[in-house]
Amino acid sequence: NAPLSEVDPEIAQVLERELDRQRGYLEMIASENFVPVSVLQSQGSVLTNKYAEGYPGRRYYGGCEEVDVAEELAIERAKALFGAGFANVQPHSGASANAAVLHAIARPGDTLLGLALDQGGHLTHGMKINFSGRLYDIVAYGVDPETSIIDMDEVRRLALEHKPKVIIAGWSAYPRQLDFAAFRAIADEVGAYLWVDMAHFAGLVAAGVHPSPIPHAHVVSTTVHKTIGGPRSGLILTNDADLAKKINTAVFPGQQGGPLMHVIAAKATAFKLAQTPEFKERQERTLRGASILADRLTQDDVKAAGIAVRSGGTDVHLVLVDLREAEIDGKQAEDLLHEIHITVNRNAVPNDPRPPMVTSGLRIGTPALATRGFGDAEFTEVADIIALALIPGADVEALRTRVAALTAAFPLYPGLQQ
Ligand code: PLP
Repeated sequence: NAPLSEVDPEIAQVLERELDRQRGYLEMIASENFVPVSVLQSQGSVLTNKYAEGYPGRRYYGGCEEVDVAEELAIERAKALFGAGFANVQPHSGASANAAVLHAIARPGDTLLGLALDQGGHLTHGMKINFSGRLYDIVAYGVDPETSIIDMDEVRRLALEHKPKVIIAGWSAYPRQLDFAAFRAIADEVGAYLWVDMAHFAGLVAAGVHPSPIPHAHVVSTTVHKTIGGPRSGLILTNDADLAKKINTAVFPGQQGGPLMHVIAAKATAFKLAQTPEFKERQERTLRGASILADRLTQDDVKAAGIAVRSGGTDVHLVLVDLREAEIDGKQAEDLLHEIHITVNRNAVPNDPRPPMVTSGLRIGTPALATRGFGDAEFTEVADIIALALIPGADVEALRTRVAALTAAFPLYPGLQQ
């Protein structure tokens, strides 16, 4: 039982250098966050040793009395947090949760209607070489090319034409709220299930700063590690008792074997923390940060460089930057921001003229910096740094110095050693 630094110094160094990287850069990948130390503790605990196939009280292994407590807590807290009658906390990830949802409500060959990947949807919503695209018949809706907003008339037209078994509402790169009631009305009109994948905005929903899909959807899936800021994992919710049974069967034994009990314990803690006033305040800062960024990136000096913000702004935790008319492409912009120690990801924009490895867009999110403690003043500074970086002729050295002042003022994981 020697420590990692002795057993495997190469991996120990990866952990150390990664902690340094996270401390020294401004993390603005919209799907990332920093878990609290309490969550790290559960994830690095002896619960990783336990097999617990089945559900609390109904396991296929002995010795589950303690992990049962953890899973019951996670379930009850998830239900309370989102106001749902049922929760399955076992999915290993968002993609596993989505696979289980489809397993529960559709059969291979059924038609699904979801947002196209290149318009902001997720791989699991029907991308060709993903399991969803291979097993199901996919019809995709997109966003309006002018406004970048989902056109509900188009969703309804496609639903009436193709009569899907499932309508998927949810996104990985979309800067606006969805109209869940309108989606449900369309689903009811064509006899489809409405599945909402709130992976990105679940933290906002939990805090009550974004409408909840729970009253409208037949089933809701989410990740726990994005805006919620919990362990990397998934969660499925429903208020429909019949679907609840199908979802449990779909997760285990349908999709998974032994659940990750160390992660489930960490989920329980994340859901507890998500019920606090501090969590709500953090989600409010997350939203304000994104709107400060959108405002700065729509000012004249940025516009003059051919840079635009898709949909003209945001009402969630991310901003989509449109570089179609700019000198700089998505890859160059991502690399340039990396040079000044800001981490973002390039992202295709609808009808992107550049190839997928280059792209003409950036997706920039504020959840991780809000967790780090940033408020309006810091987000205003970050927004200015990003704007000046994207305008041709940036002084990279000066901008990196401004970033260093911010990372120094907001130490990440103070005292933690890997
Ligand atoms: N659903 C949506 C909308 C997502 O954005 C993502 C992750 O990016 C997922 C599902 C999948 O989550 P995971 O990466 O945990 O499999």
